[in-house]
Amino acid sequence: MDWESSVLFFFLGTIGGSFLNVVIYRLPQRLSLIHPRSHCTHCKAKIPFYRNIPLVSFILQIGKCKECNGQISPQYPLVELITGIVWSWCFLNLEGTGSVLTVLLFSTLITIAWIDGLTMNIPLKLILFVLGVEIVGCLLGDISLRKALGGAFIGVICLGLIMLLTFLLTKRQGMGFGDLQLGLVLGIWLGSVNMALTLFGASFISLLVWLGISARKGLNKNRALPFAPFLIFSAGLVFVIDFYLGVGIIQFFI
Ligand SMILES: [Zn+2]
Repeated sequence: MDWESSVLFFFLGTIGGSFLNVVIYRLPQRLSLIHPRSHCTHCKAKIPFYRNIPLVSFILQIGKCKECNGQISPQYPLVELITGIVWSWCFLNLEGTGSVLTVLLFSTLITIAWIDGLTMNIPLKLILFVLGVEIVGCLLGDISLRKALGGAFIGVICLGLIMLLTFLLTKRQGMGFGDLQLGLVLGIWLGSVNMALTLFGASFISLLVWLGISARKGLNKNRALPFAPFLIFSAGLVFVIDFYLGVGIIQFFI
């Protein structure tokens, strides 16, 4: 594909990201995703469509609300940017229904990662949405059933073991059942080998981040980190690396 389509898909992705921001803000508060229209979280002023252009409006307004001068969270342009890059990559590199399904999966996973990061909770509705997309993927033949079952098994069993280990080591429940459910749907999507690599990557990165925070703020055994952002970041990374290297990634690790 050419660069024009790449720009088009990036732009469509930022609009998608703009909707994800609405979900991230409203779903944990059980607010309607449709009503009311977009408004400033400080002064509640409605945002007209010409001031609601993804990325562009934030840059033009230097991150401030036009009505009350309140700070707009950098979350908004960041989610729009990430979603734009993901949509552009998927539509340029994947084919047919697989590209649409992967875009839906990635977008929902970005939302789950962000909500877990903010609230330490994974909404079941989003997990069920991912599962629904995967069932459609199995029916259309984009996800092989054998790979899905193997991945689901590895995801649930390994995460269950990590959960048990953290409980035995720290005497507190480090992970919730939301993480197990996430392990299930990630496994179905990735298959057993990539799911195992994802878990390894997520544990490694989260440990590094935990050590980094401890070095800055002092050691606190009770400091909890949301695990979904690490799992999802690692899953995306493994998915893209596997796309370029194919089975090479397995040989690299064995
Ligand atoms: Zn305002």
